[in-house]
Amino acid sequence: MFDHRSRDMALKLLLYGGVRTLPIAVGPLCRKIGVTAKLFTPEDENDGISIIVDGEPFVFVGETSSPERQRFTAAHELGHIVLDHLQQRIPRELNIEREASEFAAELIMPECILMALNVTTTQQIMDLCRVSYPAAFLALKALQNRTDPLTHLERAVLHQFHVEKRE
Ligand SMILES: [Zn+2]
Repeated sequence: MFDHRSRDMALKLLLYGGVRTLPIAVGPLCRKIGVTAKLFTPEDENDGISIIVDGEPFVFVGETSSPERQRFTAAHELGHIVLDHLQQRIPRELNIEREASEFAAELIMPECILMALNVTTTQQIMDLCRVSYPAAFLALKALQNRTDPLTHLERAVLHQFHVEKRE
């Protein structure tokens, strides 16, 4: 059974942030909910950190990563914060890395918007959402495998977005 918690949370954030266009500006969305996003110099291959200091949430993203990678990493780390991965007891069965990445993918490549735009190629997703090839590839695969109708939240996001229908 597919768990919609992370994706629904991303859609709620898009609604709350009044987002109407792609690519998604992750920094302003962070600020809007009181999360401070900053660049940092990674000491290893880990180029993203989420941390709560004295009740204040921070997201750090590696300054040397590509803008596309930074966008996904910022969204992934934001996911850890809004999905309460940092302050709750985490149920053992919950895969928090997968959840944060599902949140990130939905936040910066909302499936309902890609559907409305009749996206059919990885390159289109890379151009529209300013994401890396691997991120766009996975999103396209999910899009092509999708059979579920739009959820209530997706309809709301779609309604809020300024979508110009493509030929
Ligand atoms: Zn993570």
